[in-house]
Amino acid sequence: MTLGNIVFLVVLVLAAGFFAYNMQRLVRYMRRVGHAEERTDHPGTRLRNLLLIGFFQTKILRDPVAGVLHAAVFWGFLVLALGGAEILLQGVLQGFSYGNFLPGPIYALYLLSQELFALLVLSAVSVLIYRRVVVKPARLQGDKVHSGDAVFILSMIAVLMITLLLIFAFEATLHPELQSFARPIATGLAMAFGAMNVSAGVAAAGFAANFWVHALLLLFFLNYLPYSKHLHVIVSLPNVYFSNTSGPGQKGVMRPMDLEAEGVEQFGAADVTHLSWKNLLDSYSCTECGRCTAVCPANITGKPLSPRKIMVNTRQRLMELAPVIEGDPEEFLAPSLSSGEGGDAGTATMTAALGNRLMDNYITEEELWACTSCRACVQECPVAIDQLDIINEMRRDLVLMESRFPPEVQPAFENMERVGSPWNFQPADRGAWAEGLEILTMAEALERGHKPEVLFWVGCMGSFDDRTKKIAVAFAKIMKASGIDFAILGQEECCNGDPARRLGNEYLYQILATQSIETMNRYEVKTVVTICPHCFHQIGNEFPQLGGNYEVIHHATYIERMLDEGRVPLREATEDGHHPTITFHDSCYLGRYNDIYEAPRATLRKALPVMNLVEPKRTKDRGLCCGAGGGRMWMEETTGKRINVERTEELLATGAEAIAAACPFCMTMLSDGIKQQNSEVPVYDIAELVAMQLAPVPETAQSNGRH
Ligand code: SF4
Ligand code: SF4
Repeated sequence: MTLGNIVFLVVLVLAAGFFAYNMQRLVRYMRRVGHAEERTDHPGTRLRNLLLIGFFQTKILRDPVAGVLHAAVFWGFLVLALGGAEILLQGVLQGFSYGNFLPGPIYALYLLSQELFALLVLSAVSVLIYRRVVVKPARLQGDKVHSGDAVFILSMIAVLMITLLLIFAFEATLHPELQSFARPIATGLAMAFGAMNVSAGVAAAGFAANFWVHALLLLFFLNYLPYSKHLHVIVSLPNVYFSNTSGPGQKGVMRPMDLEAEGVEQFGAADVTHLSWKNLLDSYSCTECGRCTAVCPANITGKPLSPRKIMVNTRQRLMELAPVIEGDPEEFLAPSLSSGEGGDAGTATMTAALGNRLMDNYITEEELWACTSCRACVQECPVAIDQLDIINEMRRDLVLMESRFPPEVQPAFENMERVGSPWNFQPADRGAWAEGLEILTMAEALERGHKPEVLFWVGCMGSFDDRTKKIAVAFAKIMKASGIDFAILGQEECCNGDPARRLGNEYLYQILATQSIETMNRYEVKTVVTICPHCFHQIGNEFPQLGGNYEVIHHATYIERMLDEGRVPLREATEDGHHPTITFHDSCYLGRYNDIYEAPRATLRKALPVMNLVEPKRTKDRGLCCGAGGGRMWMEETTGKRINVERTEELLATGAEAIAAACPFCMTMLSDGIKQQNSEVPVYDIAELVAMQLAPVPETAQSNGRH
């Protein structure tokens, strides 16, 4: 072992020790501050997520330009990590090389991979630096993102790649026998050095200098990460592994809450201490890429909400509070992650940390109420962060602990409590929409000794809103014409509580949901169909938390199924040469919450074969919210452009003659948007479009919902 090896070993041990210390500090913060949460279930799904989102970078590749560049850097890192380890070992062990024990062809392949990936990463980071410094895309601005930090890191990576290639080049200059096809770049550069008459002494000095710069920079890079936003380089893979395991039908399910748990005094989250360790790992993992904010309907239309800021603020607050909680002033006074604060502030800063909290000092009430719960941010995040979970938890704190919510929400809460609907309608009128349609209620069916196969859950809008009542009628007509044995609950139906839950009022939600479950269980309901994606999601995906387990089918899927079974008697298609152009607006609770994109489109295509379906600019899992979700339906929208206007403009830009929707909330928002733009383009629910195609039903074939 030479003196150089000994010095290198000391540096390596110190760097590794400092890195390990910082990582365990961050893990400790996360575990001590955040509450416990089980995240080891479904290992198969977790591994699949890790493979697809983590290693194959499926989410990051949704952005065709920046995504490809970042994926190239990520894959390059994986391959070059092998080379990095070899270089560090060479620093300690004179003459160490993988070539000493790897078979020749494998070693040649390894060398080739190192050179090619170094070139690939160098090219990618060069373009990324250019984007940051010259192009400055909008999504990389705002929220006080650490752009300088990003350029510093990218520059470090570029220097690492250049020095790596120069190490290879000077090695090939000193040992011409190493020049080969397996080292195309090194061989080319060595030949160039030869042509420039670079002496052996200069080549040896060049090798040594690049070797030391590369190795030391590598160790510095590793130790810089825990202090920078690029911590995600280390934590994003574990974060993806521990991310939501929910498959179709389980996305966006809100956390269960035991309101009667003994000793629990805090409901929802006012500070990082009320979040789970996974929420805090999410905050470590945020790359500040802004993909979430760029798709957030609230942010796009000028509201104060930015899901990226939610994550950055969570991390900043954690780094402010965690050292104080640990009672370790020394750590507290050390430079904090991404906060840019030094240790000069001393006790005053510590007192401030204890006086602050995530709510109000970092994230305002206005930001939280601007969220439409559309899940676009969650869908887009390349490292599987769940920003909405934090927003939901903070809303719960606002309502349950602090009684703070927009005043216009108060009547909705009161109505849900008093009459079982967010609007002030009488329960006795719930079934009025069905008058003359000869639809039985479950109670009436039972009286006649019949147990209907399907419950049509009409929902509050279908029961009381004049426009939505027409959708309920259309769907009921399709089911009757198709011979479906169904009934409704009539005045026994009440709001399932979804608006209350999304608005943070878990207490009211649980009362309403429990009541609904009791009613359905009394009738031994097995299958539920509904025209509302919010009811569909709530009853199907969230009622199981309270013991309500049913097969719940949204009418888009149900109509498609009936069409496939040949049950829907359609008029003969007449070809008059006109192919109406229709565009479809995806509901967030149908699409991003339940992965149902194809069923409504297939339903339209099957029922209206001559129709020409055109897609808006933002569609399917990238579709723009209508602005009504997350309880926004009951709130004023006074800041910025109205979300429904933004969406309607996009839909009208397709030139479609009609807009189709599959959600009463979307229907209301889009119809309002159309009116505001003085447009004549009609908005239909898919059930209405299908019902228009129904063949006339002979009088004798009609019955009381039973055929
Ligand atoms: S759920 Fe939608 S509205 Fe809410 S923060 Fe995410 S993108 Fe914005
Ligand atoms: S939360 Fe995800 S999408 Fe948003 S800035 Fe952070 S890493 Fe990017």
